[in-house]
Amino acid sequence: MDLFSKQKNKKMVKKEKEPVSGWPFLSNLLSTLIFFALLIALYSFMVGEKQKTPEISISELAQSIIGGNVTGIVVEEEKLTATFKDGVQKISRKETESSLSETLTNYGVTPQEMHAVAIEVKSPSGLGFFLLNALPIVLPLVFVLLFFWMISRQVKGAGMQAFTFGQSKARIIDPADKSQRVTFKDVAGAKEAKEELVEIVDFLKNPKKFLDIGARIPKGVLLMGAPGTGKTLLARAVAGEAGVPFFSISGSEFVEMFVGVGASRVRDLFALAKKAAPSIIFIDEIDAVGRSRGVGLGGGNDEREQTLNQILVEMDGFEPAEKVIVMAATNRPDVLDPALLRPGRFDRRVVIDIPDIHDREEILKIHANKKPFGEDVNLRIIAERTPGFSGADLYSLMNEGAILAARENRKKISQFDLIRSIEKVMLGPERKSHLLSKKEKEITAYHEAGHALVASVLPYADPVHKITIISRGRAAGYTLKLPFEDKKMQSKKEFLDDIAVSLGGYAAERMIFLDLTTGPSNDLQVSTALARDMVTKYGMSEKMGPVALEEPGGKALFGKGLGEHDYSERVSAEIDAEVSRIMNEALSKAEDILSGHRKALDAIAKELVTVETIEHEAFEKILITHGITPKKREILPGIIAA
Ligand code: ADP
Ligand code: MG
Ligand code: ZN
Repeated sequence: MDLFSKQKNKKMVKKEKEPVSGWPFLSNLLSTLIFFALLIALYSFMVGEKQKTPEISISELAQSIIGGNVTGIVVEEEKLTATFKDGVQKISRKETESSLSETLTNYGVTPQEMHAVAIEVKSPSGLGFFLLNALPIVLPLVFVLLFFWMISRQVKGAGMQAFTFGQSKARIIDPADKSQRVTFKDVAGAKEAKEELVEIVDFLKNPKKFLDIGARIPKGVLLMGAPGTGKTLLARAVAGEAGVPFFSISGSEFVEMFVGVGASRVRDLFALAKKAAPSIIFIDEIDAVGRSRGVGLGGGNDEREQTLNQILVEMDGFEPAEKVIVMAATNRPDVLDPALLRPGRFDRRVVIDIPDIHDREEILKIHANKKPFGEDVNLRIIAERTPGFSGADLYSLMNEGAILAARENRKKISQFDLIRSIEKVMLGPERKSHLLSKKEKEITAYHEAGHALVASVLPYADPVHKITIISRGRAAGYTLKLPFEDKKMQSKKEFLDDIAVSLGGYAAERMIFLDLTTGPSNDLQVSTALARDMVTKYGMSEKMGPVALEEPGGKALFGKGLGEHDYSERVSAEIDAEVSRIMNEALSKAEDILSGHRKALDAIAKELVTVETIEHEAFEKILITHGITPKKREILPGIIAA
């Protein structure tokens, strides 16, 4: 494993996801079911009520009239309610079209007999009747409406808000809320970035001063930096320093399923911010909406483009007098649409670097605040050993240290807790339970000894700090190399030596066991990628000359589709040939070193099998015994090769 490759891999930062619980849906369903049960009960009640009275046939009724037993009949359409002499009521039905007298006559009732009966004709009315007739029409309608209501509820549950879609989902931090307030004091290091941002703070605090003198204040500030370098933190600090409301939204939150939502959210957000001016709008992870338009895989995303257009329109639309500053953060400035970077938009760009040793110490100090430390703790040493760590990594290192101490029931965090946490943050937890068989242990020992020995002999490789065959994360074992200083640039000679060191494990396995395992696969990937970059990006191949053959940001992003190049097949073949030449030369360099120092290799491997971990003092002793001069170590540290 290689620390740097790991850091590069965690490119995109996690997106906030609201958990969608099943409960709202279930409770919806339940209430709907209950509602329907009630409806059905009501319906059957009304229908049932009419059927309590016994029913007789029309001929029976006619017979009763002839017999003189019926005193009165109430006619409601085809329904006849007959009252008998004894007060009993019975229901009968006639044909709808024919009149009662007609029907009775047909059944042999004479007019005289009919006169003895009081006949009352009622026109149908009443709520019950109305409902009875309306229900068959209304019920399906209710069904349909209910269905839509349920869908909309569910959609809301998934965070989509079908009927309030335009509303911005920005989180607002109120300057009056002291608990959430972040200031520049909470951000260690990043000196240049803070200097740039002080101007913005000044403007927000006292806009009149700037406007009176006719100064043009930037509308947009783009914070650029690797993940975890404190971009979000710094943006909040600007709002905290200026004491203005902070509207924050993540780029991905604009883009949702309904087309047009993003754009209307943007409008909403800007309107809100203008009302609260002076204020800050912060669009985190802006690359989610701000990627170059009209390109990309799968034919672009209309919704994203509309959102981006709306952001541009809003930014163009407001006047400096509006005192709203738009801040945005990204870790992929290379993929942003050029329109965003144009003057008058995000023309102020602030780069936040991975912290150097001094900044790392400061960041550690900030996060050490309120944690109980033992006397032996020296944050400077931790800072020395963590090159390449971002602010977020350091934060999690401190946290891991505290967890380790708590797990072992200690009241104070010791230096050793912190040191162990470094490797945990870099590579994941130690896997002591991952037992290697005797054979595997031997192979791993030779593999790591190979890396370490090549690194110690080659002049431009970083010196070895620690070797271990205790597996950690995905690596079976690893060799920790620490450079002399924090490097911003690397040379061709260093790259070539690095590749040879990476292949040291492979070379050792092949030489000692005359066989290969899957162990070196990561080493091969990392070093091949490095060799390819040398040829295509850095112009470090004599044969290809000073050309950059790869677009920054990767070829897939700029609308060329996967596997398409700027260059011809012939050039592509030449690149491949160059890469394999570099790799093969590095391999023979590693093999020469290992066979030249075979005794040292055996000694290191043997020691590893017995003690599992060799720290640098012990390692240097072995080197000296075998006539290799250890590299002069000054203070500084950093990289790993597994
Ligand atoms: P980014 O937005 O650049 O990915 P964040 O601002 O979210 O990074 O940083 C994550 C966490 O890392 C912060 O909440 C903070 O605890 C810590 N951190 C990062 N940089 C710094 C810094 N310069 N000083 C103090 N803490 C930092
Ligand atoms: Mg962030
Ligand atoms: Zn390795």
